[in-house]
Amino acid sequence: MNEKLVLRHVKCVSGEEIDIEIENGIIVGLPSDGEGRGERIIEGSGAYVSSGWIDMHVHAFPEFDPYGDEIDEIGVKQGVTTIVDAGSCGADRISELAVSREQARTRLYAFLNISRIGLTRIDELCNLDWIDRELVRQSVLTYSDFIVGLKARISRSVVGANGIAPLRLARQLSVETKMPLMVHIGSGPPDIREVIALLERNDVVTHYLNGKKNNLFDDSGKPLQEFIDAINRGVHLDVGHGTASFSFKTAEAAKRHGIGLHTISTDIYRGNRLNGPVYSMASVLSKFLYLGYSLEEVIDAVTIHAAAWLGKPELGRIQIGDRANLTLFTVNNRTVELMDSEGERRAANQVIEAKGVIMGGEFIECEVWS
Ligand SMILES: [Zn+2]
Repeated sequence: MNEKLVLRHVKCVSGEEIDIEIENGIIVGLPSDGEGRGERIIEGSGAYVSSGWIDMHVHAFPEFDPYGDEIDEIGVKQGVTTIVDAGSCGADRISELAVSREQARTRLYAFLNISRIGLTRIDELCNLDWIDRELVRQSVLTYSDFIVGLKARISRSVVGANGIAPLRLARQLSVETKMPLMVHIGSGPPDIREVIALLERNDVVTHYLNGKKNNLFDDSGKPLQEFIDAINRGVHLDVGHGTASFSFKTAEAAKRHGIGLHTISTDIYRGNRLNGPVYSMASVLSKFLYLGYSLEEVIDAVTIHAAAWLGKPELGRIQIGDRANLTLFTVNNRTVELMDSEGERRAANQVIEAKGVIMGGEFIECEVWS
């Protein structure tokens, strides 16, 4: 198992062409294109290479329905080497999610749902008794290498009659555990202004490009003042495309006003992977190319920015001495129809396709090519 592997003829998003030499899973050389030496050669054929893609919002607990899926189906098989489960599990089941890492090739982290029952049902914050502060504290202590934040889904169908109360409790728990919050936004009540006002530096607002009534932009597409204030405080913006939370119109308004990009994530689970409108990370990334972001901006949103938020900068770079954590992909000129969560369709003429990953010293070919 000591053979040296060379990834030949690959291109960084900056345009630089390199080879990558890997030994025992570690990057040992970054010679210029065609000069890499080793026992096993993987021909990159001019494909792009980046550090392994990171998806900050997925549902990776297969047992849950509808919001569940198999780790590797939404991870390495789609070119994504690191996924962050966005609160599928609360304290009751987080140990099972943690153990599931052993069977997976994809690196997995998790947001802990503040509701102990997690997504066993989809109104997990309609009963405040399910927010057990002691259990949250214990879980965070036990799984400090796994839990990266607390998740609170703050929209009408989740909180029921509780309005903003679950978010106030989440805020307290965040202070007690020193964990940032990831807050899902959607239809009100509570009013989005009330929600966003409670978010602080390093908290994540996911679904920020949703096209629902209670979103972060006014009718003319202007970002709400409360939203701009939150961004200035250092609140992190995460796409969380999902079945219902990405709108081309909202995304165009955001771009017009210079809002984002921080991280692009999918909110993928079985249903929206198989039937759309998400399908895969590559498919979601293609939508941002269509919107007019540069390839570098798009890829940075699933590498450097996500790694920085996680406090693991090594996951967002290609550097000698680091563990090889790479995604290979291509950008192809062909016309495709892309659809958002509102059913709106746009004709794009470029698509990103994931080809494979290098993870744990192995090359794994992608099965799903958007
Ligand atoms: Zn989600």
